[in-house]
Amino acid sequence: MAQRATWAGSRLLLRRLRDVMAGSGSAQERLDLIAQIIARDMVAEVCSIYVRRAGEVIELFATEGLHPDAVHKIRFRFGEGIVGVVAASARPIALAEAQKHPNFAYRPETGEEIYQSMLGVPILRGGRVLGVLAIQNRTQREYAEEEVETLETVGMVIAEMLATGEVISAQEQQPVDGLALKPLRLEGIRISPGLALGNAVLHQPSITITDPIAEDEDAELERIDEAMSEMHSALDLLIARFDGETASDHLDILRTFRMVAEDRGWIRRIREAIGTGLTAEAAVARVQNDTRARMAVVQDPYIRERLADFEELTNRLQQHLSGDMGPSGVELPDNAILVARQLGPAELLDYDHTKLRGVVLEEGSVVSHVAIVARALDIPVVGRVRGCVSRIEPLDRIVVDGQNGVCFIRPGEDFQRVFSESMDLYAEQRAAYMRDRSKPSVTLDGVDIDLFINAGLLIDVPHLEESGAVGIGLYRTEVPFMVRSGFPNVDEQQKLYQNILDQAGDKQVVFRTLDIGGDKIPSYVRESEEENPALGWRALRIGLDRPYMLRQQLRALIGAASGRPLHVMFPMVAEVSEFDAARAVMDLELKRAAEKGVDLPSQISVGTMLEVPALLFQLPTLLSRVDFVSVGSNDLQQFLFASDRGNPKLDGRYDPLAPGMLRMLKTVVDACAEADVPLALCGEMAGSPLEALALIGLGFRRLSMNASSVGPVRAMVRSVQCENLTGFIESIMNSHHHSLRSYLASYAKDHKVQT
Ligand code: PEP
Ligand code: MG
Repeated sequence: MAQRATWAGSRLLLRRLRDVMAGSGSAQERLDLIAQIIARDMVAEVCSIYVRRAGEVIELFATEGLHPDAVHKIRFRFGEGIVGVVAASARPIALAEAQKHPNFAYRPETGEEIYQSMLGVPILRGGRVLGVLAIQNRTQREYAEEEVETLETVGMVIAEMLATGEVISAQEQQPVDGLALKPLRLEGIRISPGLALGNAVLHQPSITITDPIAEDEDAELERIDEAMSEMHSALDLLIARFDGETASDHLDILRTFRMVAEDRGWIRRIREAIGTGLTAEAAVARVQNDTRARMAVVQDPYIRERLADFEELTNRLQQHLSGDMGPSGVELPDNAILVARQLGPAELLDYDHTKLRGVVLEEGSVVSHVAIVARALDIPVVGRVRGCVSRIEPLDRIVVDGQNGVCFIRPGEDFQRVFSESMDLYAEQRAAYMRDRSKPSVTLDGVDIDLFINAGLLIDVPHLEESGAVGIGLYRTEVPFMVRSGFPNVDEQQKLYQNILDQAGDKQVVFRTLDIGGDKIPSYVRESEEENPALGWRALRIGLDRPYMLRQQLRALIGAASGRPLHVMFPMVAEVSEFDAARAVMDLELKRAAEKGVDLPSQISVGTMLEVPALLFQLPTLLSRVDFVSVGSNDLQQFLFASDRGNPKLDGRYDPLAPGMLRMLKTVVDACAEADVPLALCGEMAGSPLEALALIGLGFRRLSMNASSVGPVRAMVRSVQCENLTGFIESIMNSHHHSLRSYLASYAKDHKVQT
């Protein structure tokens, strides 16, 4: 009942505002009138409208209740004063005792000292804060949730008025005195590596909501129903377009969207917003603002992902409402850097990725869907860049350093010049590696070094050809599991693996069974928190405790490889008996497949990852049972030095080129050579030319790395004398130094090895 009453109240308020907006008078006069109406309808002594100027400043544009002389004089930087906090956080603030708030900033010219309570809401449009709307009362008033919502809705209506440019022209939005748009360095997190320089394009629906206030509620409800069903059909068509294509990872993602698009709660909230007097477009935008506000506080990665899905769906729905179906509504200029609050993977795929150089996100996580797609498309992405949507202006020059999770906004000429020179060099080098991709990976003295790629998605597989690698040395099967919304069944898995084998053709693919746990938890697997996840219930430990999961995966792999070779390895093996138990599951599945008359793989090779130090002390026993070994140097290093690989405070503290690490690896090389067991290394070490140089000197002949590293490592291999290198490594292995990096770098320089 209370809700109904508020809707009716809000509807009346919105009607009154529409009459004012459509009426005569200057924009300033209408804004003044709007402030009066809001104050009266919301029973407040004060209503103030602050409008954002370029940079990070809001200025008092209209007020009912505060001193009129303060208009156009009072300005707050984002984060300054309570209204500045509302602007910076893009969240409402309701305070019964505003003066007790730590950010309360007293401005005598306003005469606001007599007002005790305050409610401020952001004026939001397309994720950007265009201003702040605030009401104040003399008494200590507790603002009800419905009142906050009503003021937010009014804020949206004002946002549309501001967007027309009649209140504040583009010229007026130029920096105010002394606040020129300065170069900025914004830190975030690394989501997809790489470097890019380009011009900002703000990702937001280009739809202008010309009339946010509805004439006829039923007509708006009908419009939303129609647009919703059009969107559903369009998604079905999109799914049908990808169906049967090899890139079925996209398909999984789209199917998830299709499910989310039916979400009843979301649809209900939009209909309710129409009930408050908004048009369908304005109601969709209103719900989107709520979703964004929720996203700002939610920590759970699963929920964040779902909220991100709504962001994309909202944009699609707006397009259907307006009939403007351009690809995300924005034609990209060359060298575009997309700046967004959040981006869905399908939205990223909507953009012309030949023009897209990089992405900067306010949200985002390393395991998000968009991150996986961006990495596969080789587009650098920096995420969790706080305030990027408000702080970056369209067409600003931006440097995206995906490697270090940082971006530079409006960098100076000198910085840009230096940066573009290194980018040119980088591009030239990549072109040279591409040209050399069919040259053999062989040392000057004729030793073959087999270079493989690490992969995790179908869209990675074409890199096999592009890089000239001999195969996939590590296929991380958990990656496709992580982009889905549910556990894939045997058939789905088999199709996926078959697809990879088909695309790889004659080239070898080594499938690693699920390595979930640690930092890789699919959104649908909910386990209790672990104190030390890296040392926790992960990888093969889960596989052995949940044998059904492992059996299903092995069954799918056997089915996928029928009639061709199958290479499987197990992650995080700590004891020989664990390997034996996993192999027994494999044998069981082979037996089952034979009984069912399945055409078995032509050859089966079962190996282990070596990433737990305990296994080093069981080498002879282990090597008599495995078909091959692949060193996972990322985990092996973290366990050897007891140093969390994901802890930035420990980044670089221990070097993989430390004598201890190299001596350990040498033990593995010698043991495998003696037992005649093929050995590879598939951690990050393999992809860095200097580290790969050390590995070759130790005796490694098979290295598996990210596709982009194959070119540089091949160039290094082709410029080194293996025998001489081996002698050199032996001569420095007993060093007492922290690292042998500088020795190796000098060796490379002296011997003209390309590192
Ligand atoms: C490793 O640990 O070195 C490895 C290759 O596995 P991941 O990075 O997937 O843990
Ligand atoms: Mg590992």
